[in-house]
Amino acid sequence: MRLVLLGAPGGGKGTQAKKLIEKYGIPQISTGDILRASVAAGTPLGKEAKSYMDKGELVPDSVVIGLVKERVAQDDCKKGYILDGFPRNIAQAEVLDKVLAEMGSPLSTALLIDVDKDVLMKRLTGRRTCKNCQQMYNVYFSAPKKDGVCDKCGGELFQRDDDKEETIKKRLDVYDAQTAPLMDYYKKKGILKSVKGTGSIDEIFNQVCNIVEGK
Ligand code: AMP
Repeated sequence: MRLVLLGAPGGGKGTQAKKLIEKYGIPQISTGDILRASVAAGTPLGKEAKSYMDKGELVPDSVVIGLVKERVAQDDCKKGYILDGFPRNIAQAEVLDKVLAEMGSPLSTALLIDVDKDVLMKRLTGRRTCKNCQQMYNVYFSAPKKDGVCDKCGGELFQRDDDKEETIKKRLDVYDAQTAPLMDYYKKKGILKSVKGTGSIDEIFNQVCNIVEGK
């Protein structure tokens, strides 16, 4: 299974990806997570990426394409993988197709998780992540029992720098302009599938599983 998750920021791609990892034992490749790790480690790549991320803009294609090329070639991707947050524009999608064709392992499905804009705003502004175990919460929809503290491990919860309101608006605009056209791109290739991203996480996950298992 070589899956691309499509959908606006806050649509639940990361949440569904984590459940897919558990069920199918394949890795998630999240360019956002890789970039945030580089920012946290203070690498030169992280320093370059941070200026774009804080503004809600896309990091240059040359940076993210290099990261993904390296990652899909690693051993744990032989059984398949879930791409989350990549590709983000047509240029990235074209390079990805070319690289995967050369490897003889094209994408199997591009799955859109479809969510309305007003719901996205609440999901993004309310999102909190555990510093310690990365467990995600939402202060509107799935609040932790104790404010600011992870239910699972007691770690401190934080709000991502790019989940502030102004940056979110910019990220949603960037999505409409650059990432939404990917739906057409994958539709033309005949691999686009979609699920409504509202309802319980488990209900959505059931539909996701049916799709990836070709049911
Ligand atoms: P995400 O966690 O996927 O919402 O990504 C957070 C931020 O990382 C984005 O707003 C971009 O600045 C950057 N980013 C993540 N993936 C990509 C990508 N494929 N291309 C360019 N920038 C990206």
